[in-house]
Amino acid sequence: MIEIGEAKWIKDQMCDLLCGLKIIKVSMMNREHKFCFLNHTTYDFEMVLQNKTIQNVKQNGHMIRLLLDYGRELVFFEDFIFEYKTVENVTDKNQMVIYFNNEMALEIKVKLYGFIMVGTRSELEENDVYFKRALSVIDPLDEDFTYEYFIQETKLNEPKHTVKMALATEQKIPGLGNGTLQDILFYAKVRPDRKVETLKDFEKIALYQETKRVIGMIYQHKGRHMQSDILLNKGGYEVQMCSTRGFCPICQTNLNEKNYLGGKVIFCPHCQK
Ligand SMILES: [Zn+2]
Repeated sequence: MIEIGEAKWIKDQMCDLLCGLKIIKVSMMNREHKFCFLNHTTYDFEMVLQNKTIQNVKQNGHMIRLLLDYGRELVFFEDFIFEYKTVENVTDKNQMVIYFNNEMALEIKVKLYGFIMVGTRSELEENDVYFKRALSVIDPLDEDFTYEYFIQETKLNEPKHTVKMALATEQKIPGLGNGTLQDILFYAKVRPDRKVETLKDFEKIALYQETKRVIGMIYQHKGRHMQSDILLNKGGYEVQMCSTRGFCPICQTNLNEKNYLGGKVIFCPHCQK
């Protein structure tokens, strides 16, 4: 899953490698995928994108937006592998290939599930709530992402919430998924199912600080270690709470894995309260 930290790095890389390139051809759904969701027909994608130039690349939450001529954009979010490669290395096992005017192509594969959308910003804002939400929030690495804003957006002061509900459901912080959440909670020493009304002020401040710090570290290290960028380099951020580790890097206690609110959350039963 491409979460917010990876999306930032992939955006930088696409900016460097793809800006200014002209799309000469697009080929869609070379391999069927039940969970690859398009907002238009494959024919529309192929027609609309042809002969457009990539003017800029932006990231909002986990959304990666390729800005094209005439206000159009091509948007990706959720679980993808992007491979920027020479045309002769393109396979037929993909859901999209974008061919550029420099003999290179971007081959795009959906892993678990993924959304690909094309349109103008206003069309997309009108028709996709996730897109609209991602573009309306303040980025966690922005200096305007204050502690007060964090509390307000996550509803961390409202009763009947748990910490995972507050931070990683309903797009409260777009792009903050399970992977990023686990490490934020580990460093903040708070459990995912902790009731928010039991949190002390210092714990809320830790959640705020670790949210910014963990996302910043994932970005700085060019993604988490199990994710690849568009040149297929693995990220340099070593995930702390991962299922292959088995025990806590601080106290060596066996880690707990709990299915909770749509996804497994790994935590240390000793360090996290
Ligand atoms: Zn521990």
